[in-house]
Amino acid sequence: MNTSTAPVGINRQNISAGSLPEILQNPFTVAQQQLDEAAAYMKLPASAHEMLRWPLRELHIMIPVRMDDGNTKIFQGFRVQYNDARGPCKGGIRYHPAETIDTVRALAAWMTWKTALVDLPLGGGKGGVVCDPKNLSQGELERLSRAYIRQAGSFLGPEKDVPAPDLYTSAQVMAWMADEYSFMQGNNEFGVITGKPLALGGSAGRNDATARGGIFCIREAAAVLGIGLERATAAIQGYGNAGSHAHRLAEELLGMKVVAVSDSTGCIYNPDGLFHRDVAAHKKKTGSVTGFPCAVPITNENLISLDVAVLIPAALEGVIHKENAHSVRALMIAELANGPLTPEADSILREKGCYVIPDLLCNAGGVTVSYFEMVQNAYGYYWDEDEVHLKLEKKMITAFRNVHEASLHHKVHNRRAAYIVAIERVAEAMKLRGWV
Ligand code: NAD
Repeated sequence: MNTSTAPVGINRQNISAGSLPEILQNPFTVAQQQLDEAAAYMKLPASAHEMLRWPLRELHIMIPVRMDDGNTKIFQGFRVQYNDARGPCKGGIRYHPAETIDTVRALAAWMTWKTALVDLPLGGGKGGVVCDPKNLSQGELERLSRAYIRQAGSFLGPEKDVPAPDLYTSAQVMAWMADEYSFMQGNNEFGVITGKPLALGGSAGRNDATARGGIFCIREAAAVLGIGLERATAAIQGYGNAGSHAHRLAEELLGMKVVAVSDSTGCIYNPDGLFHRDVAAHKKKTGSVTGFPCAVPITNENLISLDVAVLIPAALEGVIHKENAHSVRALMIAELANGPLTPEADSILREKGCYVIPDLLCNAGGVTVSYFEMVQNAYGYYWDEDEVHLKLEKKMITAFRNVHEASLHHKVHNRRAAYIVAIERVAEAMKLRGWV
């Protein structure tokens, strides 16, 4: 297969980052490498492989926004529709000063695999705007969000491509975007976007869906490994949406003892356990987990090397790498964050016998409940929280078992198994549609 020909409009210079240190690698190069490895293993037909190496479509836009001082500032934005063979594209919109088209492409590829792995009738997409939201007023943020939709709206739609919140885009941003899109259509179209406030067609159970999905995976993995989780220990890196809810649910649903947690200000440890209610109240009051009275401060490297049953990275990518992977003592790593292990750390941990629940699977609860939001919007009929939880549990258990069975069948590790299951599904849809 010829992989040297980039589609028109895509600058190959942007993606030739193979010689960079692993932690600085171009994310899209990494995403393509992951696909290439799985495709080679699966003997994926060349045409399907080539289709899956690049986005189907991408939109590059310039977004003029009237700033509070009266000047007009031009922002650059993107929307990538990576693959929609299985259904409308799905994926967040990010606001970040260092946003690049290659980051958006990589994330759109990963969304394609994730939606297929959980067997949602969706494809993968992602969007981004190069901006520093911390330096925008509320009015500027609203005008930027509405202008993004005016430029990209015709590319989006409940049947085409459905965005969601991501880095620095909140439920309020989704509400402005849904409103602008509705004006463009001439009728309410709340289903164009998910992660909306409950009052505008959001779904019950979305807030803790990512953590809840990960907790279900930890429970299934413990059964596979024959580990009891009652009073077993956990350490959690990151105390935002994913990490804080994971702390609560590890206690509530699994009876676990969380001994260490961290956020961007530092890490805290108590071998007797940290109660979510108390830590969350402290963080709410002070803005950070550090300074919590019933714990001692430890370093991030200490947290990663704690002798715990489950280590839950729930913050940033690349935090476990070749320099610190040898120190990990956890029996299991549950990747709630996207990409917390570098490829080198991944192989070191495999050699050590650490069981890894890969991000594609572990954090798929969020997109699963986003899909439930699309379904509820389409029906105009809304489920209560218990119903959402039950449906999420069923999806996550099935996805976990699919990965586990594929790993036994192909004799491969979980990450490779997850890629095989996902890519097989997307390739099958493309074949049935006559694309390849
Ligand atoms: P968030 O912004 O709500 O929280 C991030 C947390 O990480 C914060 O507590 C922050 O203080 C902490 N943090 C930042 N730098 C840190 C560092 N160096 N050490 C320790 N902690 C640090 O974000 P989130 O929504 O919880 O997302 C976290 C991860 O989970 C990301 O990788 C995200 O892509 C992934 N994820 C989230 C969702 C979701 O629904 N929220 C879905 C899928 C994947």
